[in-house]
Amino acid sequence: MLNLTGKNALVTGIANNRSIAWGIAQQLHQAGANLGVTFLPDEKGRYEKKVAELVEPLQPSLFLPCDVQNEEQIESTFATVQEKWGKLDILIHCLAFANKDDLTGDFSKTSRAGFNLALEVSAYSLVQLSRAASPLMTEGGSIITLTYLGGVRVISNYNVMGVAKAALEMNVRYLAAELGPQNIRVNAISAGPIRTLASSAVGGILDMIHHVEEIAPLRRTVTQTEVGNTAAFLASDLSSGITGQVLYVDSGYAIMGM
Ligand code: NAD
Repeated sequence: MLNLTGKNALVTGIANNRSIAWGIAQQLHQAGANLGVTFLPDEKGRYEKKVAELVEPLQPSLFLPCDVQNEEQIESTFATVQEKWGKLDILIHCLAFANKDDLTGDFSKTSRAGFNLALEVSAYSLVQLSRAASPLMTEGGSIITLTYLGGVRVISNYNVMGVAKAALEMNVRYLAAELGPQNIRVNAISAGPIRTLASSAVGGILDMIHHVEEIAPLRRTVTQTEVGNTAAFLASDLSSGITGQVLYVDSGYAIMGM
């Protein structure tokens, strides 16, 4: 049975009730995990208030600011995890960012700064967080990130984020190879398109969703809850033999040729 009782899970990437990370946090909670939640701090503290209210029913025992572009915040997040929990079992990396201008039009117009920003926030951050998390995974662990088909195939407007996802998926393999001897598993979920804050920045996201609804074997796209259930499985001992993989939760869309 899927049971995460006694497991400590740190969840990044909740912005609102449409966030995939919110779907994941709910399913981890339902399976009995003790939750810690991080949020992206902003100057006016709006995110903090909104996310705090949203996650309140899940009673997270940690609620911490963590901007992955801020090394000090990452250090402080994991120092608190060590101090309050002693060990970490599950890390959910569910965040990405690129300038809106870089998510439409010609890919060749991507600026150096825009390219670096997208790769740093969306791909390098998995390396940073895994480096900080792995010493705390003293009883083994599961690291899970979120990717998209645009990292292996050309999807209109996904542009620099596709390059970032390709890097992210390769990060998963290198990290899985390195951390496997410590019984730390690293996997990615490749989710079908879902309307969220981040995906709204990608030009034509609604068209992408409608296309999936027509073509995918299940004739629909997926929900945050379905991604959350897969994350709970990957976080649990039920998936103990799986590492370094990209698991498609996309209603089967990726198998289709025409
Ligand atoms: P979302 O906007 O709800 O979540 C993105 C999160 O990234 C937000 O919580 C935001 O605060 C966080 N973030 C951005 N910059 C950050 C930084 N510097 N430090 C810390 N956090 C930062 O959107 P989402 O769609 O739930 O995205 C979550 C993940 O799922 C992303 O990796 C996204 O690429 C991936 N994904 C989304 C879809 C989709 O269709 N929505 C499909 C496949 C994969």
